[in-house]
Amino acid sequence: MRRSIPPRENEEFPVRQVIIIGSGPAGYTAAIYAARAQLEPLVIASSVQAGGELMNTTEVENFPGFPEGVMGPDLMTKMQEQAERFGTEVVFDDVVSVELAGDVKKVTLGNGDTHEARTVIVATGSAYRKLGLESEEQFSGFGVSWCATCDGFFFREKTIAVVGGGDSAMEEANFLTRFADKVYVIHRKDTLRASKIMQQRAFDNPKIEFLWNKEVAQIFGDQQVRGITIKDTVDGTETTMDLDGLFIAIGNDPRTHLVHGQLDLTDDGTIAVDGRSSRTSLPGVFAAGDVVDPHYRQAVTAAASGTVAALDAEHFLAAANDGELIAAAV
Ligand SMILES: Cc1cc2nc3c(=O)[nH]c(=O)nc-3n(C[C@H](O)[C@H](O)[C@H](O)COP(=O)(O)OP(=O)(O)OC[C@H]3O[C@@H](n4cnc5c(N)ncnc54)[C@H](O)[C@@H]3O)c2cc1C
Repeated sequence: MRRSIPPRENEEFPVRQVIIIGSGPAGYTAAIYAARAQLEPLVIASSVQAGGELMNTTEVENFPGFPEGVMGPDLMTKMQEQAERFGTEVVFDDVVSVELAGDVKKVTLGNGDTHEARTVIVATGSAYRKLGLESEEQFSGFGVSWCATCDGFFFREKTIAVVGGGDSAMEEANFLTRFADKVYVIHRKDTLRASKIMQQRAFDNPKIEFLWNKEVAQIFGDQQVRGITIKDTVDGTETTMDLDGLFIAIGNDPRTHLVHGQLDLTDDGTIAVDGRSSRTSLPGVFAAGDVVDPHYRQAVTAAASGTVAALDAEHFLAAANDGELIAAAV
């Protein structure tokens, strides 16, 4: 027999229908759908990174509905407002631990509060690996990018560089030659990690030139990137070169540390979900956005994935409620 879960009246926080961890496009879209389904979601938005990755960029030109483009932070503010309009509660704190097994899930925040819910949607995104230079942050969205699909269009007839030696670096470099006049690939070794076919495609591309045994030591410019200093990894010598943009393609890490040991992960390090659904390895726990996506990682795909998670949570709760009614009747 299913156990009924009433609100715990004397406790500080009621047991929620749904808690959403993360406030990027996936988290806020899940919140919009859950709120409109009367589930009164609680979004734990993060203390310093609320709004997700698009807070780090300027113009977004590929999110549908904005023919003139939209600034990343403006888009995320609109998503937040849309979620709140339907009754979403947003808390600007970080989740420090979760207990996801069982009928009631526990979510503990940095301020010590523990919230409980019957379902949890994990929408914690993923982080592009960085070079670790201060100037990288300074020029993020102003010539430094981690996403050729997102930003390649801004570099028509420009000279740019891609950092990295794996498949995604080769893919980005090839893609960027559709726009740029010249694409340098900067790699710290003299051989690539990329598959042979991806390497060959890059070698055959007349717009791509490889700079072997080099790493980026500094990025400089004014409002925009104007060039970089590169350091030879063999003899340590430094040279500067003029550039209009720098794409960093050295990897991406799904933010899964909260759920390690609780949810199954894929070989790519993303949270494993069942087919096209958002169902994870634990009942009542759903995952959406870049944290489940090793390939597409776009705002609109994350938003769509948030929709799937909210609908899956809604169906799970409806089925659980039906089970409780049937159990009460027998
Ligand atoms: C510089 C840059 C520019 C981009 N430009 C474009 C573009 O032009 N077009 C496009 O379609 N895509 C673009 N992207 C990709 C796009 O931003 C992502 O695909 C999208 O944001 C993924 O959404 P998400 O909700 O899955 O994750 P995210 O946006 O990463 O959001 C995850 C959220 O979860 C929060 N979180 C993580 N851990 C915790 C925790 N423990 N507690 C509380 N909160 C937590 C994070 O702080 C963050 O707020 C860009 C990415 C970058 C980095």
